[in-house]
Amino acid sequence: MTTNLRPLLTQTLDAALDFLHSLDTAPVTATVTPTDLRHRFLQPLNPDPLPPEQVIADLVANTRDALTGMAGGRFFAWAIGGSLPAALAADWLTTAWDQNGGLYASSPAASMVEVAAATWLKQLLGLPAAASFAFVTGCQMAHLTCLAAARHHVYLQHGIDLEAHGLAGAPPPRILTSNRHGSIDRAVHLLGLGSNHIEELPLDHHIHLTPETLQAALAADPTRPTIVILQCGDLNTGSYDDYATLIPLAHRHHAWVHIDGAFGLWAAASPQLRHLTRGVELADSWATDGHKWLNVPYDCGYAFTAHPISHRAAMSHHVSYLIHDPQAYDQLDWTPEWSRRARGFATYAALRQLGTTGVADLINRCCRHAHTLTQALAQLPGVQLIHLSDINQGLVRFLDPRPAATEPDHDTFTDRVVTRIRNQGRAFFVASTWQSRRVMRISVLNWQTSDHDIEVAIEAVAEALQEETKIRSPFL
Ligand SMILES: *Cc1c(COP(=O)(O)O)cnc(C)c1O
Repeated sequence: MTTNLRPLLTQTLDAALDFLHSLDTAPVTATVTPTDLRHRFLQPLNPDPLPPEQVIADLVANTRDALTGMAGGRFFAWAIGGSLPAALAADWLTTAWDQNGGLYASSPAASMVEVAAATWLKQLLGLPAAASFAFVTGCQMAHLTCLAAARHHVYLQHGIDLEAHGLAGAPPPRILTSNRHGSIDRAVHLLGLGSNHIEELPLDHHIHLTPETLQAALAADPTRPTIVILQCGDLNTGSYDDYATLIPLAHRHHAWVHIDGAFGLWAAASPQLRHLTRGVELADSWATDGHKWLNVPYDCGYAFTAHPISHRAAMSHHVSYLIHDPQAYDQLDWTPEWSRRARGFATYAALRQLGTTGVADLINRCCRHAHTLTQALAQLPGVQLIHLSDINQGLVRFLDPRPAATEPDHDTFTDRVVTRIRNQGRAFFVASTWQSRRVMRISVLNWQTSDHDIEVAIEAVAEALQEETKIRSPFL
């Protein structure tokens, strides 16, 4: 190699450290305006090459105030994890090594770490040791992978080779879901299964899918190829279903059961919380994330199936110019990609940094923080506790202080308080609609979140609430 990379990579290391070390003090919210950002980035492409040092210096300068603090400990919106140190470092090496992780032959180490990490993941998450697996970009693509396997499997039961014939002329599928995430709908669209064939099953007042509801839905149309999708850790409430009852029931009707466990499946890795996921190992496929609760950098989700033959039939493709190794794990047989990032290194590193007890500690700590935060907010005047979950989620609502305030007023007030908290920049939350009401979601998934971060977040919410209350009701 003729280029000396040391100055560039040292400069990059310094920039990365500056960013990471600023997370505790910098605003968690991006403060740039779209106009300013457009001006920084939407420039004509330079006609001539630039020194890489300048490209990186400009990139760092131009992203200033335009990144959020989601890598740090006070980001409680959506379901966002950070990056464990070993995972971050392994991810850098993955880029430097630049391996195409498509085949054992293209990168033996990339293939073998995926096998090792998948074995550990199955143990931690309580999944069958023989389950097939795929490391994909996120839970969205894990759904796609699992549901492609499911599609193959349920149509084969009807004598249809779906990969060859496609869905045209085949009986339409039936996809029975409970409180699902939007990524399920997208996987259904992408697989051509048709969103009209999704049936949303009603939940009881404890937000659970009951066996009676599932039984009635299954029995209503028993001849169609059927996939049942269960949520493992609801996005808003973190609730779990009675998998030990529901899954055998679905199996009696020859349905494939897929589990969306993007973050909630990780409760299985904690001895204190494992009971919540009881029976989940009976399912046919599971989708979860590494870049959420395991705190691996982005581009990391996991698909598992209990039916390796169907999984492989849905994904595998062999051509003469590749080297397929029957003795080894070729990712191309199991993932939807062709060329792909050797993304297993970061997971392997994260799991080794934590070990079994470290993973459990991370899960328990996030849940403890979520409870402390939710309960402390619920004590503030004007805050209504909507849901305190068993895991790392919480829901609260801010009440408009005016005596005649209506439900829509509380909705508007909740949105205003949440926006004000974000604008203050000390904690990042988003509002959501739950059971037709606006609420603020609390979601704790970052390994760095500390007791101090929780205190700061409580103060930030209290202050924003007080300010909004004064605006709404200046004479109170
Ligand atoms: C985040 C999430 C997804 C989508 O996962 P990505 O990793 O963003 O693709 C699916 N289901 C649930 C419950 C989620 O929280």
